[in-house]
Amino acid sequence: MRHTARQTRANRTITVDFQNEATYFQLLGDGKAFVECVFAFILSLGFQLAHKASCRDGGCLTRHSHYVRLRVRGITIWRIQCTTCKAVFTVLPHFVLRYRRMRPEVARDALLATHGGLSLEWCATICHISPMALYRVICAFGQHSLVSVLTRCGLRLPAYILADEKHSRCLTDKVYLPTIVSGRVLWHLGYSDSKSAAAFTQSYGVFQQAALEQEPSYRVKGALTDGFDSTVSSMRTLFPGARLGFCLRHALNKLPNKLVGVSASVRQGLRSKFHALLHRCRQRKSLRVVAMGQCLRHFAHRIATTVGEAHGERVRHWCEDKKAGWYVVLADPQMPAMSTMLDQAHNAIDRKLFAMKSFHHPGGSQAAFLAGLAHLYNLIPYQHRALNAGKCGVEVEGGRIPTPDWMLNLQILTSGGFR
Ligand SMILES: [Zn+2]
Repeated sequence: MRHTARQTRANRTITVDFQNEATYFQLLGDGKAFVECVFAFILSLGFQLAHKASCRDGGCLTRHSHYVRLRVRGITIWRIQCTTCKAVFTVLPHFVLRYRRMRPEVARDALLATHGGLSLEWCATICHISPMALYRVICAFGQHSLVSVLTRCGLRLPAYILADEKHSRCLTDKVYLPTIVSGRVLWHLGYSDSKSAAAFTQSYGVFQQAALEQEPSYRVKGALTDGFDSTVSSMRTLFPGARLGFCLRHALNKLPNKLVGVSASVRQGLRSKFHALLHRCRQRKSLRVVAMGQCLRHFAHRIATTVGEAHGERVRHWCEDKKAGWYVVLADPQMPAMSTMLDQAHNAIDRKLFAMKSFHHPGGSQAAFLAGLAHLYNLIPYQHRALNAGKCGVEVEGGRIPTPDWMLNLQILTSGGFR
């Protein structure tokens, strides 16, 4: 019988790179050298260990600390203790995954194949593991928030964000993945079975909460959305001071829908005109907001005279409704103008969602699974152009990663023992 709340012990596991297994087993025989090696590794990362709040003396793991030996699949694991605050850290060598029998090199291949778009079943087959084991590994990494991993890499919380939802299916139900992107990095990938403003606010609120824990003064300066009501209203609720812009490319793609019944070639021509209009407004350094209002009125007038008053009226209404969001994009040069990066991220995630379809059941750990996929998206090197060759998204955005090995980085950065 458990009536009292269960004491949840803080996860203070750290992954340490001992270079090779032989070194590790050698060090097990020498406590002093072991602690020194762990210490040197942590120093090289530039991370702080998560001591207890009361602990003033940050680096107090001395050789006077004591060790507890655990055994994980026959391998001795040491736990080291801070002499001051008594916080106990479990030191996982690089060749062990927390709570898992699967070896990191097996997980590495399977995760890379998953990231590349292969189904969980095929990934499991080529790596001789079960699909469920792979699913669980991804979920385990996804227990750690994107915000804490990204800030550990030295990335600043994004002042300007792209926010949009990917539509997907869970069996026969429609589900939505509220997503926040900044540059090439995913800061939030949530899961919601409703497209209501309340549901989106709750999902985006998870990001906000994690960000505020990192930096209590965090404020979003600007958010770009496609203008969908629930997204816009959730942004207003969560980030009241932020400028809300609407994606210009989205506007461009929406225009033909406003001209139903008009021949395709005429619609295409008007879309090009609209494109030129937006482009011209962006080129202007000054007065572009004023210029845009004028251009939009002219544009609606042209539609009214060429394809009919009803169409002109519809486009005029549409422009009235959306132009405030377009203005915001033009008025603030730091504001992203288009959600291209977010679309790319969604396309990359989409293949994996298809891959996970048999795990997509209502009782699944979708949130953790998606966060795990997002970690892969942020940390696996992908760049092939000369400028950023071999870099992962975090590096492209100016972040520092602990080692040149993405799998080891994933292990280290999702450790619970760092502050
Ligand atoms: Zn301490």
